Amino acid sequence: MRVHAACLGHPRIGADRELKRALESFWAGKSSREELEASAAALRRRHWSAMRDAGIDAIPSNDFSLYDHVLDTAIALGAIPARHRAIDDPIARYFAMARGLQDRANGIDVPALEMTKWLDTNYHYLVPELDADQVFSLDPSKILDEVREARALGLETRPVILGPVSFLLASKLAPGARGGTRTLDLLDRVLPSYEALLARLAAENVAWVQLDEPCLVTDLDDDAIAAIGRALDRLLASPARPRVLLATYFRAIDPDVIARTRLDAVHVDLARAPQQLDAVIDALPREATLSLGVVDGRNVWRTDLDAARALVRHAIDRLGASRVQVATSCSLLHVPVDLASERALDPEVRSWLAFAAQKLAEVAALARSATLESPVDPLFAQTREALATRRRSARTHDPAVRERAARVDDAMLHRASPYPVRAKAQRARFDLPRFPTTTIGSFPQTSDVRAARASWRAGRTTDAEYRAFLERETRACIERQERIGIDVLVHGEFERTDMVEHFGELLEGFAFTEHGWVQSYGSRCVKPPILFGDVARPEPMTVDWARFAQSLTSRPVKGMLTGPLTILQWSFVRDDQPRADTCKQIALALRDEVRDLEAAGIAMIQVDEPAIREGLPLRARDHAAYLRWAVDAFRLATSGARDDTQMHTHMCYSEFRDILAEIAAMDADVLSIETSRSHMELLEDFGRFRYPNEIGPGVYDIHSPRVPSVAEMRDLLERAARVIPAEQLWVNPDCGLKTRGWSEVERALTNMVEAAREARAR
Ligand code: GLN
Ligand code: ZN
Repeated sequence: MRVHAACLGHPRIGADRELKRALESFWAGKSSREELEASAAALRRRHWSAMRDAGIDAIPSNDFSLYDHVLDTAIALGAIPARHRAIDDPIARYFAMARGLQDRANGIDVPALEMTKWLDTNYHYLVPELDADQVFSLDPSKILDEVREARALGLETRPVILGPVSFLLASKLAPGARGGTRTLDLLDRVLPSYEALLARLAAENVAWVQLDEPCLVTDLDDDAIAAIGRALDRLLASPARPRVLLATYFRAIDPDVIARTRLDAVHVDLARAPQQLDAVIDALPREATLSLGVVDGRNVWRTDLDAARALVRHAIDRLGASRVQVATSCSLLHVPVDLASERALDPEVRSWLAFAAQKLAEVAALARSATLESPVDPLFAQTREALATRRRSARTHDPAVRERAARVDDAMLHRASPYPVRAKAQRARFDLPRFPTTTIGSFPQTSDVRAARASWRAGRTTDAEYRAFLERETRACIERQERIGIDVLVHGEFERTDMVEHFGELLEGFAFTEHGWVQSYGSRCVKPPILFGDVARPEPMTVDWARFAQSLTSRPVKGMLTGPLTILQWSFVRDDQPRADTCKQIALALRDEVRDLEAAGIAMIQVDEPAIREGLPLRARDHAAYLRWAVDAFRLATSGARDDTQMHTHMCYSEFRDILAEIAAMDADVLSIETSRSHMELLEDFGRFRYPNEIGPGVYDIHSPRVPSVAEMRDLLERAARVIPAEQLWVNPDCGLKTRGWSEVERALTNMVEAAREARAR
């Protein structure tokens, strides 16, 4: 009996981001719909063949998407909002749901669906909008087409379908829907479409489907748990259906949910939650297969094949080989495609890594060797060797870094004096007007800036030339800010591509890939640094530019750092120690940077933490522990500052309502935060909570090219002043200005400064 190997999903974007190019060219009107579909089909073919060639038995289909699989599910269920339904052409309608449709000439302006993060990943999905009396109707064409397309290659696939409860929980009710309704109340309306889909797939002779219900790893209330039970009972009672694998990932499930069902197979994530294995086996329906997600689909490290094999062998002992499958822990959507495309990676670090292609080989090797007394596959020996060097490497274990981290004590987490004392020292030092104005850090990264960087990276310009270019940009930026009349300046961040990459490149312990792209949403990809080793700062990272910028003006210029949580959150992080320990090392490096900035005469330092909220674990019971070490890491990075050094932080992208106490506990002297899109609702929460330090609610929404008027921003400011004492308020945009153009920025900031002046005068 051979154990089967399974993959829950392949990256879609292409090893060379072919999908991104095909989409963007289609959107720009440079290629036809047929060309787009041909590129997509070529990618699917390539991915299917890659899985087959790697030795994967259970190969997914419908894991591909032109934009997003949740959007695809909405379309398959006929959940198309009225504003999009009016668009006749299906592909135009699809992209209108994904990205909005604007045609100024014809007065068309159809907003997209909202976008939000997929569970605790950095992948963003489109939030389906449902009516309270939503009528669902099945359109299985994409799912069936992919099954047939794979068959043309001689492959049987296991279509991936987002399950009804996760679909409903991921959706929202359309604005104006009847109060009191919840999306989950639509379960009985949507189930017939799922039943019809299963019947269609059965008619098509599809043997298995992968029904994803990732909501099973989140905090569910009793209604949701009951809904899962009801949905599964009904779908599994369908007279004609393929066999159903219920897939969950990222955390442990409550095994009760699967007990007493008629499921044919269950998939669990044993990379993230290996401890659930026995409980799941105990609860597994009689004769059901267990798919063991032992190869981590969320990270880039080689799997410890011996440890994974031990889990597989244990499951085989308990269930028999015929009821066990070896699989990726989740879809490989969240990892880069192929390590083989990396030519410049340090060979030592490279030997520790596995991208999607390598992970498929690991799954296959584990499956092949599962029933053998000892593994003969050479991949096992290679892995042992690689893991041993990883454990021994001086780059993963730097005694000086470890010793220092072990010595961190409580005193290092506190500023010398409490905020009121510091505020006094800072007021004496800075003499700022009421409602001081500032910006968040970056100024427009124009095509000039990008071109200069590209040409320097390519060796076409010298270091000195590039440096001179950046000095000119920085000087011009300082001059513009002075001309506009901003009180607290920034240097503009022209030397940085990305706020995490910049620090990763200057710190020890990080590696960078050339092609390690991961889909963030639609055609957007990110290339996270790989945090593989102990983090140390060989030399100051930002002091030169900060000192240079400060030398140009008598106004304070903020030093600008990316915070430890954000660096952690936006990297692929080592898995051989707790994230908290890694974060502490980053914090210590930043603490040294703060000290060096201070010594260079920088009097205000901003430590950005836009990603602090998104690190929150999936389950509420784990929140407190995370927030404790997260807040401590920020405090460790910032608390070495003198009382009269003003520490700023900035946060955006998230809902902060539920972590106000922790934000306050970070004890930054000044917090700037995104509020303009939520119309200051957040601020009322801050008012009620009585945020103790100073705060700059964003009055200028930088996510739109619109230039807000003086009156608009003054109005926001006055509304802020009603809930927060005026002496605590700062005036700033809600995020960095890097993606905007100079002309709009200049006008918007001029208006912002004027709004502050008018507010002062009142
Ligand atoms: N200082 C950064 C900037 O202005 C902050 C970016 C962010 O919050 N994402 O670009
Ligand atoms: Zn921001």
